[in-house]
Amino acid sequence: MPPARDTPPPAGRAAPVTWQVAVPVPLPRLFDYAPLAGAPPTVPVGCRVRVAFGTSGERIGVVVGSAPMPADADTLKPVAALLDHAPLLHGELLDSLRWLARYSHAPLGEVLATALPGPLRHGEPLPDTRRWGWRLTRAGATALGGMRAGRPRQLAEALQAATVDEATLAAHHEGWRAALRSLDGRGLVERVGLEAVTAVDLSAGTAGPTPNDEQQVAIDAIADAGDGFAPMLLDGVTGSGKTEVYLRAIADCLARGRQALVLVPEIGLTPQTLARFRERLGIPVHALHSGLSDGERVRTWTACLRGQARVVVGTRSAVFLPLPEAGLIVVDEEHDGSFKQLDGIRYHARDFALVRGKALGVPVVLGSATPSLESLHNAITGRYAHLRLSRRAGHARPPRVRVVDIRKRPLQAGLSPALLADLQQVLDAGGQALVFKNRRGYAPVLLCHDCGWAAHCTRCSTPERGTPMTVHGGGRRLQCHHCGARRPVPNACPDCGGLALQPQGAGTERIEEALAGRFPDLPVLRIDRGTTQRRDALEQALAGFGDAPGILVGTQMLAKGHDLPNLTRVAVVGIDEGLFSADFRAPEKLAQLLIQVAGRAGRAEKPGEVLLQTHHPDHPLLSTLLSGGYPAFAAEELEHREAAGFPPFAHLALMRAEARQLDVAHAFLRDAREALAGLAGDALELSGPLPAPMPRRAGFQRAQLLLSCTTRGPLHAALDAALPAIRALPDARRVRWSLDVDPVDLY
Ligand code: ADP
Ligand code: ZN
Ligand code: ZN
Repeated sequence: MPPARDTPPPAGRAAPVTWQVAVPVPLPRLFDYAPLAGAPPTVPVGCRVRVAFGTSGERIGVVVGSAPMPADADTLKPVAALLDHAPLLHGELLDSLRWLARYSHAPLGEVLATALPGPLRHGEPLPDTRRWGWRLTRAGATALGGMRAGRPRQLAEALQAATVDEATLAAHHEGWRAALRSLDGRGLVERVGLEAVTAVDLSAGTAGPTPNDEQQVAIDAIADAGDGFAPMLLDGVTGSGKTEVYLRAIADCLARGRQALVLVPEIGLTPQTLARFRERLGIPVHALHSGLSDGERVRTWTACLRGQARVVVGTRSAVFLPLPEAGLIVVDEEHDGSFKQLDGIRYHARDFALVRGKALGVPVVLGSATPSLESLHNAITGRYAHLRLSRRAGHARPPRVRVVDIRKRPLQAGLSPALLADLQQVLDAGGQALVFKNRRGYAPVLLCHDCGWAAHCTRCSTPERGTPMTVHGGGRRLQCHHCGARRPVPNACPDCGGLALQPQGAGTERIEEALAGRFPDLPVLRIDRGTTQRRDALEQALAGFGDAPGILVGTQMLAKGHDLPNLTRVAVVGIDEGLFSADFRAPEKLAQLLIQVAGRAGRAEKPGEVLLQTHHPDHPLLSTLLSGGYPAFAAEELEHREAAGFPPFAHLALMRAEARQLDVAHAFLRDAREALAGLAGDALELSGPLPAPMPRRAGFQRAQLLLSCTTRGPLHAALDAALPAIRALPDARRVRWSLDVDPVDLY
């Protein structure tokens, strides 16, 4: 019988193969190269290589497989360099990333490049991630008795018993670097490389509060899941002790010799959070977020790969960390929009965390006070375990919510007399208040009172639909929040020449101005993207705000983060636009935001109160939320979604196209529609091409085609079948187009 084709040839005479390389270019295929000259016969899957690409360029790619050497082998270029001795992306991680490439219909090379930290993507070697420690030399031990009191002596005493690693020194010894330098200069201490911590010693951690019954049920459920994939929704009101549950589950995971990954939203990763994790666990906790340098990011990535990092708390991209000894994945505030990447590879970190958890065989805990309707639906239908924490932990009471009807009331910068009087009371009593308005800048519109002209962005407006520019700088500057365009406020109306230009409405800047005028003796601190460009600026500003009476004004940046124990009042203003948005997710986002902001009030043992200022006190969303809380809202909203055929009862993909000319974008999407039509029978619904909800941005006309299907299978099958033809359309080169599977925003 002739040998089957894939039977390996006898050892020593391996049939020649190519190395298949995933190269980060927008082409959905792999590229074959001849192996590196002199390389061993095994194909280095998961290692990076440098390869010639195109007419003169070079790229860094990842070897992902091999193929039989073709007949015209001499036309293949050889790999120029092999950059790794051991694979960076292999096993589970490579498999999961292959899944992501298929699911997002993106080139594997681009997906792999997205998963790697910058320096590795650019071909740099893996960094040194050894931990370093210090110990006394023999001379140091001898000298210790005669040393003067002071920091160097204290430090020498600390090093007397055992070698101490640098992270511990930094955490427990103020001024340790200077003291060490002084000891080192005299030859009394030496630096030593330490073994990786794999056997974790949790004895340095602190115990934390005794879990209540509901917490214990959740902790046990996670522990029972142990060594298998188990998706769980930890559905617990703000302050109910979800973080305590995570900490117990993580400690358990560490004790079993496993790694734990915790994903948090961009603004949830505060120094306070990290300090809490470090203190409770008593071992190094690595952080990964956009505020770190490339060097820091690649060190954390590598420390994970080597099993040296045991606990990582990170934002969206941390979902790509290698976890060779994974034991647990937590996604905190799983409903948060920042888990979705909005450009490039459009992945959702929560969803990808579930994919990885399944492949790794570990529990994945999704936590939120306001779960996404997708996750809630999965919990209700039994696909996820539903763990509930229904009460605030300790003695904290839930905040009371009061609706302030502002119809026909005079407003000052959007604030009603009732609200101002209430703030006065809170401040008089020594409390702190937060005024929440989800609109930064001074005013959302600049209007001519004489002729009705409004300042629109010339790059983002169409004749039918103007995009107003936001007034900034106390009324002197105009800025477009969509494309970033800026210009000064004109002296006179460009249309009628009149001088009656007036800012309309109020953003956080104007509210700050009004409150500072009204309460001149108290601090009024504004927190929004304008005041906190740097990531620790928010933290510092809040820490500086302290506990004394004062008012915070801000956007949703204030919805979480730094705990403010003395904050007893939250006033929510200007939510009315959100009640009437066309976006099918708008009610969900608004309800989540309201609950999250309200959760800021009275977190400590002081009762909190929330004032909700609105022109629509009888709006069903508000009354449901007020009478039944988030669960009642979610139940109703899920019914609406089902009736309207929206997620989680349908699966969407959005094809977007932008071009200077609208008809080019439309023509492309029309051809794309034709390529897709009929591929999935009636199962696949196509709507469009339609103008995008924002039909022009930064000078580009924007259109979109929405794909909708009650099950995932036919949607993906149709895309798989049609995309080669769509990519080959002549117009595909004339438009900027993208495909977003499971879009969060239909914008
Ligand atoms: P969440 O993550 O749900 O917002 P946290 O875990 O941060 O809640 O807990 C809120 C507060 O309650 C924290 O100060 C925490 O230390 C405290 N806490 C949590 N669980 C308990 C408990 N079982 N007993 C007493 N206090 C608790
Ligand atoms: Zn005018
Ligand atoms: Zn603009």
